[in-house]
Formats: sequence, C-alpha cells, structure tokens
Amino acid sequence: MNYFPVFFDLDAQKVLVVGAGEVALRKVELLMRTGAAVTVVAPDIHPELMRRAGAGLIKLALREFVPEDLSGARLVIVATSHRALNRWIANLSESRGIPVNVVDDREASRFIVPAIVDRDPVLVAVATSGTSPVLARRLRERLEALIPKRIGEAALWLRSMRRTAKSQLRDIGARRRFFEAVVDGPAMRRFIDGDAQGARRIAQQLLSTSSTAPRAAGEVALVGAGPGDAELLTLKALRALQDADVILHDRLVSRSVLDMARRDAELICVGKAAGNLGSTQEQINQLLIEHASAGKRVVRLKGGDPFVFGRGGEELEALAAARINFSVVPGITAAAGCAAYAGIPLTHRDYAHSVSFVTGHADKTGKEPDWRALSAPGHTAVFYMGLARLEHIVARLLEHGASPTLPAGLIVQGTLPQQRVIVATLATLVKIAARAALESPALLVVGEVVALHESLAWFGMPKILDASQSA
Ligand code: SAH
Repeated sequence: MNYFPVFFDLDAQKVLVVGAGEVALRKVELLMRTGAAVTVVAPDIHPELMRRAGAGLIKLALREFVPEDLSGARLVIVATSHRALNRWIANLSESRGIPVNVVDDREASRFIVPAIVDRDPVLVAVATSGTSPVLARRLRERLEALIPKRIGEAALWLRSMRRTAKSQLRDIGARRRFFEAVVDGPAMRRFIDGDAQGARRIAQQLLSTSSTAPRAAGEVALVGAGPGDAELLTLKALRALQDADVILHDRLVSRSVLDMARRDAELICVGKAAGNLGSTQEQINQLLIEHASAGKRVVRLKGGDPFVFGRGGEELEALAAARINFSVVPGITAAAGCAAYAGIPLTHRDYAHSVSFVTGHADKTGKEPDWRALSAPGHTAVFYMGLARLEHIVARLLEHGASPTLPAGLIVQGTLPQQRVIVATLATLVKIAARAALESPALLVVGEVVALHESLAWFGMPKILDASQSA
C-alpha cells in the first residue's frame, strides 16, 4: 500500500492554496466546508474566489507566491499551470515538513486527494493511488448510487440516540446490540426511506425491549420489480434486494432483476407456472410472516407495481394482522414500462385524455368492467392479463361503440430484449394475434395512441431512421 488513508481535521487551520483557477476553486470550496482558514495566492483570480475574499471568507494575496506564504500552513495545495513553479513550491513545502498536494502531479505530492461521496457527516473516500482518476470517479459514481442519500442524517440521528441509550441500557453489550438492531433492521431502513417518525417508533420499541430481547425485529418490504428490464428498478428496490435475507418472488420477475439480489439471499419462487399451481395466497402470507418473525429481512418481490393487480394489498393486510413491520417500494407498472418501450404514449393531447388500467381476467363474481367508458373516444384502455380473453374483450368493446378501425396493440414481454409489439385494429387484432403465437406476459392497449407506435417505436429498432429514406 502506497498511501495511508486519513481524514484531516482542519478546523481553523491555515491551508495555503497556490493558484486560483477552476481547479483551485473546487479545492477551496471543499476546504471551506471543513472550517479551514484558507489563504489563496495567485496573480490572477477566478471571479468566484474574488467574491469569497470580498466577503471575508478566505484570505487572498493577488501576487506571485513567495516562500514566506508557507509560514504557519498545515497543508498546501498547489494548482498553478506551471509545472516547474508547482514543483519548486512542493519542494519548499517538503523541506518544511508541510504536507503538499500538487494537482495532477502525483510524484510531487506528499498526499493525494480522494474522490469522495459526500453525505456529511458520512464521507466515503475512493483512491486508486493516483493510477487512474477516471476509474476513481466511476467507482465514486457507483457508490453514489448505492449509498442512501439520507445516510448522513441517519448518522446524526444515531448520535442523537446515544445519550438515551446510555441511560436506559447500562450494559455496554446491550447498547451495542441495540444499535446493531437499529442499523441492521427496519428502523434504519425506515429512516433512509424518509419515514423518520416510523424509524423513531421502531427504535423506541427496540429500546424498551433491548435488555430482554436484543434480536433485530424482522420486516417485509413489498417491492415492485418493474416490467422486466432490471435497469427500471428504483434505487430503493435495488437497495432492498441487496439488503434482503429472503426474497419471495413471482414467476413474472425477470432473471436479470433477480440477479441484483444479494448473493446469499434465499430466493423462493411462489409464482404460478404451467403445470405448477404455485403457492396459494394463504401459503405466501404464512411464509412472509414466518420469515419476518424469525428476524429476517424479507423482500416480497412482485412484477411491475405491487399495488397494480398484484394482490399487494391483501398481503399487507395479513402482515398488519400479524403485527409485522412492513414497507412498500413502488415499481414501474407494466402499462407504463411497456408503453414507453413500445413508443405508445398512454395519453396525448390530440388523441387521449384519460387512461384506464383494467384486468382482462374474468372476475370470480362475473362482474364486467364498464365497457361503455372503455370504448369511449379520446380514451386509452390498457388490459392486464388480457391475452386469454382477447376475443371476449375485443367483442365487448365493439359492442359498446368502439370503432372497428380503432388501433389496438399487444406488447409481449415488454422492456425485455425479446419484446414484440403487434399493432392492428379492433377488427383485425384477434386474427393477427392468433397467427403470431404469442407468449405471455402480454399487455393489450386499445386507443388512438396505439397508432403512434409506427413513428415513435425506438426500442429494439435496428437503426436510426435515415432522413434521406423518409423523404
Ligand atoms: N403488478 C403487475 C401486474 C401483474 S398482472 C404490474 O404492475 O405490472 C400480470 C400482467 O401484467 C400480465 O398478464 C401482463 O398483462 C402484464 N405484464 C407484466 N409484465 C409485462 C411485460 N413485461 N410485458 C407485457 N405485459 C406485462
């Protein structure tokens, strides 16, 4: 290892910055946040630095560097555009034992400045020992996406609990277990999700039981996996997948989404498949309750959005009755995802002012949707689970006044590489679909907007349309 990583407390310490361009400005901005007493020396100054000096926030010397500038400095950053000058200043700093960094000159630097993820007071620093600043930046970007935005606030929250914990839990081991239960469990996840009140409530519960039952309470996150393309997961869904001990998923959830799960998470498929009826709803509810009661972090992963034809509500009712903590992460529902990837805007000022999401599945009670409303002009109707009853749906729409020439389309395995889009009219769709031997899942979209597919399709298109061809 070539470098020793440290975080330097610079509060009220003199830091000398030589040079005053764009790079120096960025360093000064960062330094100022640490409370350092910044002195900038340079003959030409970035206007923003000038402004800060005018406001008395930094000291400024509008001239060339002189060795006396180093006196009293705890740290030196050199960022002029003259390599020889930089090196001379670096040598002077070295001879006085002041740590120095020369921007873009690792050899002349005693210390290097890492790429950081800044969630004050939480700081994550990344360095490649100067081998590749680009790589360091990319790594930082990945960490940015992975580390919750509210982690800094969470750290402050944890600090704020220290005193209460100390007074209520005398034993140092019990305190440690309490904080572990908070950080590893639903309390922290709540806080990160922006539900500070829920987090406090759970932490309070833990605190009152910690001396007797120190184990972290389990929780179920009901998570929407989106329509298929794993990149359509939300950041929260990704985090839940990477935190999970157990994941109960539907058949509909794509392989690429499941690949995002923590490696040692237990994956349980509870979905229906051909020749396999899958678990009953009652069995699923029971599994969720069992795992959560055992203190596990459980993710219930559903295709699309859990509250759109996903029985998410029923599962939460069972959890609520069993007094299990739960949270919900919405997902991109099939209608939104498939329409986007098929180039079919669900509403459009010229063609549709409203949109309905309808189940094409026969209701046990035999109740039918409001076919007249769905057939009305200026409306888009999206049918989930409609493939098996396609003929029935089309017949009802025609009966209730929809025009036989109304565009209607099927989006099959939407957002996935094998996506297929079939566009027809109400009069022709059933025949064309039968010929195409479609697989599920498929979504039926009916309305004028479907015709836009022809000009707006983009996903899976072999090439950009050539202007000379379209002319
Ligand atoms: N909760 C899910 C819907 C579950 S019902 C959501 O919000 O999307 C299952 C139906 O969703 C399927 O029968 C199909 O109509 C539709 N569906 C889900 N994913 C799809 C996909 N990738 N392509 C086409 N239709 C899809």
